[in-house]
Amino acid sequence: MKITFLGTSGSMPTQSRSSSSIAMNRKGEVILLDCGEGTQRRMVEAHIGFRRRMRVFVSHLHGDHILGLPGLLQTMTLLQRERPLEIYGPEGLADFIDAFNKTLGGQGFPTTIHEILSGGIVFEDPEYRVHAVRADHDDPSWSYVLEEAPRPGRFHPERALSLGIPEGPLWKRLQLGEDVENSEGALVRSEEVVDPPIRGLKVAYSGDTRPSEAFMAASKGADIMIHEATFDSSLLEKAEENGHSTAAQAAHIARSADVGLLILTHISSRYPDPTILLEEALEIFPNTKIAQDLMELHV
Ligand SMILES: [Zn+2]
Ligand SMILES: [Zn+2]
Repeated sequence: MKITFLGTSGSMPTQSRSSSSIAMNRKGEVILLDCGEGTQRRMVEAHIGFRRRMRVFVSHLHGDHILGLPGLLQTMTLLQRERPLEIYGPEGLADFIDAFNKTLGGQGFPTTIHEILSGGIVFEDPEYRVHAVRADHDDPSWSYVLEEAPRPGRFHPERALSLGIPEGPLWKRLQLGEDVENSEGALVRSEEVVDPPIRGLKVAYSGDTRPSEAFMAASKGADIMIHEATFDSSLLEKAEENGHSTAAQAAHIARSADVGLLILTHISSRYPDPTILLEEALEIFPNTKIAQDLMELHV
């Protein structure tokens, strides 16, 4: 999976940061987390095509997370996208899209809007699932946790042969986790010939939120946590008042959730140099990075 940070600014764009948007690329599909102003421009810079298989997850209906949608959808129409687009987000998302469609015309491709009314699994296929958790920000706001399904472990044909199982349908059953009998009636267990399943990646995205126990619990053991860090600790009161987190609070959530890597994003325009945010997070959670626009993470 490749994660590209398309926009990393909080509330308004700055000279170097666009508004919130993150593209996760997995097996040819783009999973877009939020679509702030400037998203399509950054997609061009990151070479992410507008006709790709794509799903968009919107955390909440503040301008810095959704104002990129009208432009993105219009460009997709101009480029004659045909593939359907699925957009997930809070109640009110359909009204927002209808409103600009009234002026701009609709999409030339099928668009499905899924308004999320309660938390839980909001998308699932055999490859991965996405879980929505209510964020502690203006209601309704969602955090998202993407979890890949475990992949089957490696099959060892030579072990199967030595246990008296010839190549054929019994191999398939062993690979699917079933135990089988050989021609002499002896039981051969799947785990004797197949390695344990390989766990998939888990990536958690906070969206805008005060530190949230629910998000922390849903993110347990994630490989990557992408957490907003709008302010530093000297602005704790302001963060609380506006429904945001400080970098230190984000680091505490990452530590409690025991994640592998913490990426701080949604950086306030008051920090042209965000070192202060990184430093306070590093004291609490050593494996922390600060996102910047067009930063790529290969995982
Ligand atoms: Zn925001
Ligand atoms: Zn917000």
